[in-house]
Amino acid sequence: MQHIEVRALNKVFGEFHAVKDISFQIERGKLIGLLGPSGGGKTSILRMLAGLETPTSGDIRFHGARVNELPPQERGIGFVFQSYALFKHMTVYDNIAFGLKVKKQPRNVIKERVMYLVELTGLKGFQHRYPHQLSGGQRQRVAFARALAPEPQLLLLDEPFAAIDAKIRAELRTWLKEMIEQLGITSIFVTHDQEEAIEVADEIMIISGGRLEQKGSPWDIYRHPATPFVASFIGESSIVENVGVLRGFELGVLARDCKALIRPEYIEVGKPGEIKLASATMPARVKRLHFRGNEWMVELDAAGTTLMTYRSLEKELLVPEEEVCILVHRAYLFNDESSWIMENPLKV
Ligand code: ATP
Repeated sequence: MQHIEVRALNKVFGEFHAVKDISFQIERGKLIGLLGPSGGGKTSILRMLAGLETPTSGDIRFHGARVNELPPQERGIGFVFQSYALFKHMTVYDNIAFGLKVKKQPRNVIKERVMYLVELTGLKGFQHRYPHQLSGGQRQRVAFARALAPEPQLLLLDEPFAAIDAKIRAELRTWLKEMIEQLGITSIFVTHDQEEAIEVADEIMIISGGRLEQKGSPWDIYRHPATPFVASFIGESSIVENVGVLRGFELGVLARDCKALIRPEYIEVGKPGEIKLASATMPARVKRLHFRGNEWMVELDAAGTTLMTYRSLEKELLVPEEEVCILVHRAYLFNDESSWIMENPLKV
């Protein structure tokens, strides 16, 4: 049986349809990333799961049992928000112990659980401090520990890393993933940071305009996007309006009215002669070079279309206005009716 099951979920605020007919299932112990542009409906979905918002229609089931009518405190959910939302007048210990005290757990049980979480979240030695005596990263760890203390069956995280510096954020992400794996707790986190979702999540759900565009592993979402929106939202890409310029692809009748979306890593660029498969290459001109630290991002003009690709620092330097050759390995083609991935049959 699926741990979490959502069927035909809708939320209408006044005249505004914020969540549109969303259905999905989540297996126990999975870490799911809800990713999408601002205003897409991610937080509304999370709030309905938590019981903080009532669905306009649809079913929410935990272990097969409908929870639509259950109040938040009876759903067994832990919540971590973007802003730490810790109790300022309570120590780290008391913050973590809060949910257990509400449940009237015995003192020794509370102590044991809190100290276990203090250890697990790397907060040993900090348990007598107050929130203002902690760094942002430490405060967020306290928030995790507090949410985990009552042993929730589902952990919901709303942009948990948004308020934290980039470097600490990267550390916290890895830490969170490891901790959730260790505890085996089903978790859903909202983010608008695609890198974060790709790195951390077992599965990503792309939400846009209130709809679920795609649900799949980060690999699937990146390599096999289901819609043009997903393809352009995840990863970097260039759009080719006139696919006729793509040399080497057997486009056929179907593809005539298509557009193509091509990721930088699917394009190889070289000085004339540098790419061996001459018959499959097409000419292009270097427009600009952007230094990325570990490589160049090269902006190219190919028959009036702008394409972006990478070039290793090890290879001979390209310069603006230089005439080069490119080989497109893979493209995502789409028109109004359908979409599909094409590989260049001539590539080695
Ligand atoms: P963000 O990334 O900006 O937090 P989101 O994907 O989480 O966005 P939601 O917060 O779920 O999106 O909001 C979805 C839409 O519903 C938005 O247009 C928002 O303005 C609207 N909305 C959310 N809550 C309410 C409310 N209580 N009343 C009216 N409209 C609301």
